[in-house]
Amino acid sequence: MTNYTDLNTSERILLGPGPSTAHPRVLRAMAQPLVGHLDPQFLKVMDETQELLRFVFQTENELTLPISATGSAGMEAALCNFIEPGDEVLIGVIGYFGERLCDMAARYGANVRKLEKPWGEVIDPAEIEAELKAKPAKIVAMVHAETSTGAWQPVEEISRIVHNYGGLFLLDCVTSLGGLPVKIDEWEVDIAYSAAQKCLSCPPGLAPLTINDRAREVMCKRKKPTSNWYLDLCLLDNYWGDVRTYHHTAPISTIFALREGLRLAYEEGLEARFKRHRKNAELLWAGFEAMGIELHVPVEIRLPTLTTPRIPDGVDDMLVRKRLLDEYNVEIAGGFSQLAGQVWRIGLMGYSSRRENVTLLLAALKEILNSV
Ligand SMILES: *Cc1c(COP(=O)(O)O)cnc(C)c1O
Repeated sequence: MTNYTDLNTSERILLGPGPSTAHPRVLRAMAQPLVGHLDPQFLKVMDETQELLRFVFQTENELTLPISATGSAGMEAALCNFIEPGDEVLIGVIGYFGERLCDMAARYGANVRKLEKPWGEVIDPAEIEAELKAKPAKIVAMVHAETSTGAWQPVEEISRIVHNYGGLFLLDCVTSLGGLPVKIDEWEVDIAYSAAQKCLSCPPGLAPLTINDRAREVMCKRKKPTSNWYLDLCLLDNYWGDVRTYHHTAPISTIFALREGLRLAYEEGLEARFKRHRKNAELLWAGFEAMGIELHVPVEIRLPTLTTPRIPDGVDDMLVRKRLLDEYNVEIAGGFSQLAGQVWRIGLMGYSSRRENVTLLLAALKEILNSV
């Protein structure tokens, strides 16, 4: 008989593009006894989770809820509820996750137009304006924090332009929410989604999503319901809204986790939280500069939540990452596609964004690079 041992995972320090390290308080919240998904105790948890989501999204949007699946499901819900076959959709592609938006939008029958940039750059508002002037779009979608490159896309002015041309502005906030300012109402972002396992210090499994009244109106005017039953926001709104009609069994323990992750953000305060992310990122950047290692993204558009140092010539990418994991319990990631073998991807997100993690990583890298 096979001896299946108790699970005994290492206390890894997760400094990759996600998941980031879950906060101990989040893991404790997950271990609470299970209650039913219509138990009054759970209904209260749902209400509080929605309130806290509005807090981190900086929005009053009523339709704000966690989708019961990972960030990609948030992306899919953000597209499938608004796209009808033949719709014009303009997508800003500054890396891998922009490509994924294009793939999904096309599957729902959109005429996808791509505005593409080399990996590490961002899109200029004037370029969006020129595209919309040539041909309007029902939806303009882009990624706020491109986890594949480390670039931070400015969006405020683009949102204004999109509305001037009568479109909806859709924003992927997966690697920004909880780590840098995401001002849904002030910027008039119509549709936004994120993921629990990046800057919110939770395990993967939930995708916070919010839409405003402008987006809701477009959704309600559809000729036919979306072909995706599970992610239909009209049905989900009946479950998460006042009616609380059963739709699917909420992942109770994962929602306990999200509530705790959000409560941590609330206690810390958004400004203090963004400052912490910034400070730790600057410490990391200074460390790389002192080691003579170049950073792929210029400082003006560099994300504090994800840094992409260029791998020095002659250094074995895989070997360095393996030694970091084996000898220091630290996980970072490599680049892929356009940046394969060229950069490392280092996330300082949520609970992972701590000074001691930065100093450990820099010291470990120095030791490894000196010994190869
Ligand atoms: C991680 C990520 C996603 C996808 O989220 P999953 O939880 O892996 O499904 C989408 N967009 C961005 C920018 C991401 O970093």
